[in-house]
Amino acid sequence: MREFSEYPTTRHVKHPISLQNTQNTKHMKKHIIALLCSLAITITGFAHSGVEKGPNGGRLLEFSKDETLHGEVTVKDGKFVIELLDKSHKAVALGEQTLTASGGPSGKAAKLAVEKKDGKFVIPVVKEGEWLIVQFKADSKAKSITARLQYDTGACDGCKKPEWLCECPPAKDAKK
Ligand SMILES: [Zn+2]
Repeated sequence: MREFSEYPTTRHVKHPISLQNTQNTKHMKKHIIALLCSLAITITGFAHSGVEKGPNGGRLLEFSKDETLHGEVTVKDGKFVIELLDKSHKAVALGEQTLTASGGPSGKAAKLAVEKKDGKFVIPVVKEGEWLIVQFKADSKAKSITARLQYDTGACDGCKKPEWLCECPPAKDAKK
């Protein structure tokens, strides 16, 4: 905002037109540069990197504290299907693992029914843009692990995939 307060509006009145124009141009340039800088920051701030994808093209959720167990979320026949995968992304048989789920708009998630079908968890799909929140337990004594995703089906500007399955490479400055 410094540029604005320094702007010598009143002094300009006595300058010949040409000088006034030169000074205005200088100020304009300063403003444009400042504007571009803030735009660049904004764009970087919003740039997202791709989500972790599973072997079936679904979205990977972390179901462990050490990347040893994942849930791969795909959508089939209007249902979320969650398959358990080990650390090398091989399917894990469903046994005593449990999953509870809720979904809905941000902050207003309601409980969803979870079925076990063909060795996978099956949950009704949430509306576009809503959240799916799942609580996974490896067995009855295990601590539950919460994972969530926003079911954003809008096409990503970068990879044209739905946002919830975005394949954009990680942002360069996030690689460090
Ligand atoms: Zn993308």
